[in-house]
Parts: sequence; structure tokens; C-alpha cells
Amino acid sequence: MNHTETDVAALRARVDELFPAIQADLEALVRIPSVSAAAFDQAHVAVSAEAVADLLRGVGLPYVRVLRSARPDGEPGAPAVVARRPAREGEPTVLLYAHHDVQPPGDAATWETDPFEPTQVGERLFGRGAADDKAGLMAHVGALRALTALGEEPGVGVTVFVEGEEEAGSPSFAQFLADHRDLLAADVIVVADSTNWKVGVPALTTSLRGLVDGVVTVEVLDHAVHSGMFGGPVLDANVLLARLVATLHDDAGNVAVAGLASAGEPEVDYAEADFRGDASVLDGVELAGTGTIAGRLWTKPAIAVIGIDATSVAHASNTLAPRCAAKVSVRIPPGTEPQAAEDALRAHLEAHAPFGARVTWTPGEQGRAFGAPADSAAMRAARAAFSAAWGTAPVDIGVGGSIPFIADLLEAFPQAAVLVTGVEDPDSRAHGPNESVHLGELRKVVLAEALLLRGVAGEA
Ligand SMILES: [Zn+2]
Repeated sequence: MNHTETDVAALRARVDELFPAIQADLEALVRIPSVSAAAFDQAHVAVSAEAVADLLRGVGLPYVRVLRSARPDGEPGAPAVVARRPAREGEPTVLLYAHHDVQPPGDAATWETDPFEPTQVGERLFGRGAADDKAGLMAHVGALRALTALGEEPGVGVTVFVEGEEEAGSPSFAQFLADHRDLLAADVIVVADSTNWKVGVPALTTSLRGLVDGVVTVEVLDHAVHSGMFGGPVLDANVLLARLVATLHDDAGNVAVAGLASAGEPEVDYAEADFRGDASVLDGVELAGTGTIAGRLWTKPAIAVIGIDATSVAHASNTLAPRCAAKVSVRIPPGTEPQAAEDALRAHLEAHAPFGARVTWTPGEQGRAFGAPADSAAMRAARAAFSAAWGTAPVDIGVGGSIPFIADLLEAFPQAAVLVTGVEDPDSRAHGPNESVHLGELRKVVLAEALLLRGVAGEA
């Protein structure tokens, strides 16, 4: 769908008029310290859910509820808010996702402003959750307000789903989907919890890596023996595990496990200096792998050892370790199934058992990667909306990590088109101290989302 200049201008004027109220509502949300981490007072998360419910009642959605489902441990999950206007005959349904919980503020001394007192400095609004993800929520609210202010029904069914435990790993989300599947069913899902490429350049997040992990154990002796009496003809389990782990990468640092493939190169790259700075790479340390840095982060597999069970240095004695284990974590690109990746890793580990050591694999967690179809009606509507709002086309970006609830959503609604959008930019510092949102960009996100809702209706 093409948006005519007059239509875009009228909607932009409406968003500009509404924006002071949108910003004020965002500030009120930031003042609620809705940290979902278990060590924090969960009463604030409940207050935040009620505030979100009030905002959604205000946009005229007839159904608004605060709902909870059980976590796997039986405890109640955090309160989520669902607001809906069901689709009329022949209309598609769009699910708008955001989360109202936030990360802990961390060390207050590292903040230049109070994390829970929203503070505007120039074009940026600082505060915990100002970007992640209370601004994502306000993008949904603002878009619906702008369309309503023009007397427009979006021409789609709308469900707004605002989770309260995303920053805690969405522990009750799978159960929530099972309990409320009918409420959340949608044709298009807009997840406003990612980032744009930079101020002035929008982005669609079209790939997220998945995850496979597990524990590899190397056993070589029945019991520990004296390293002087027995060392030499037999290598200890720590050395053998190190040799086994070393086979997971080639000399350039690329993953060397047959069957773990790359998903091609992204259209934009990450500057090496930025990567070094952001990842705090020490001077003199060379980067691993080949190809673009963005590709190494988003579309290629990565393997890390995230824990080792071995004798600690404090408890070291002159013995040969009989046994050693490592937790291995594999990030998998879109296009690779988690089970296939795990099978490939396990086969590699068993085939490379050093000196015939006993190598066993204990499976851990699996999470699916996400790759948006390059050309779907929803994607075309999103590109047109973003292009009109920013005056420049969005770039496709990836995220190296996974967003667990997206995998759950895709499992529940495999036919839905998932659009991953966001309000952040590289200076937003989500999760860190001095988090902020760029208000000029937030205004464009609101406009883009209103255009997107119109566009999806136009494609139906
Ligand atoms: Zn978030």
C-alpha cells in the first residue's frame, strides 16, 4: 500500500498534536519502578499493570483485562494486560506486543539522573524503561489514539498484549498462551521491543538467533590418581576437555562443527571499533571469525563455553582429574532447527573424543531462531509505513540473542506474520545505566505504527 502525502501529513499533524500527552503518559509509567526481577517488590509491577490497563481503556478498546497465568514452578506469573477490539467479518487481526516491566536500575551511582524520575535532556528522555519497553507500549497507545482522533477505525481487529515479566525471561508466557490462546490469536504480530538502526534510519529486525545448550562430560579415569606416579602416559580430564573444546572452532575462530551453517550476510554492518567498545574487548585482542561483524553476530552460529566443572585452584592437589564437564552454549542462525544443531554438536563432540576419552552429552535448553520472510504482505506494509514516517526506507537488521516469547508466539501461531520493530537507537542503553529514548524518533514510531495499521487493513 502506498500512503499518499496528504494522508501522511494529516496523520503526522495529529501525532504532533497528541505527542505532549503521549510523552506525559510515558513519564508517568517510568515513575513506576516495575522491576520484574524476583528480588524487587512485585507490588510495583501490579501498579504498572493497572496503569497500562487505564491507558488502554482510554483508547476505546472495549475489552481490557489484567491477567496472570502460572509459571512452571506453580507460582503465579506477573500481571499481563490484554486489550481488544475483535475484528469484524473479513478483517485481519493485529496483535501489538510490548512489556511493562523493566530491568533493575543497577548501581544508582552510575546514573546521571534518578532512574525512576523521567528527565528530558535535549531530545532524549532518560529513565529506566523510558525506551525498553514503556516507549514501545506508548507507540501502540499513540498510534491508536492518532487513528481514533481522526475518527478512523483502523479496519483491523486490534489486540494489545502487554507482558509484565519479559525482563525476567517470560516464565509464565507459554502457560499464558495455553490459557488465553483465543484472546491472542492474530494474523499479524507487531513486537515493539527492538531497535532502529540509528537516529533517522528505521529498521525491521528480521532475524534473531536461536539457542541450544547442554553439558559435555569427559571421563578418563575411574578415580583421581597421583599426578607424579601416573602423569605422562595418560592425560587428565581437564586437559582432554580443553583439547575437545578447542576443536569447536578453526584457527580463524569460525565455528568448525559440520552441519552448523550460516544464513548469509546482512545488508548492513557493525563498525569494528563500535563492536570493540561495546563488547569491551581488551587492546591487542584479535576478533574471531571471518566475514562481516554483523554476520558473525546475527547470521552465523557462535559457540561459547559458559561454565566448567573442574577442581578449583583453591582445592587443587597433585592428582590427575578423572572427570571434567563444560556447559556449551550454541547460538544458531535462522534456518537451522535447534534439534539439528544439537545433533550436529553432539556428533562433533563424540567424533572428536581425544585419546578415546568417554564423552557424553546431556541436553539442556533449546530455543528457535527467527527469520522473517523477506516478502510478505505484512512486511510490505511495514516497509511502506516506515518509509513514509521517516522519509527513508528501513534497513533489515538482526539480533544475536533470542527473544524467548517470540519463539513461543510462533509456535502457537505459525501462520502469523511477525514484525519486530522498536523505539531504541544505539544510544538508548537499554538494560544499562542512563537508558533513554529519542523523543523525535518515538514520534516517528507512533506515526509509522498508525500507518502500518492502515496498511495492514489496506492489504486485507
Ligand atoms: Zn524489552
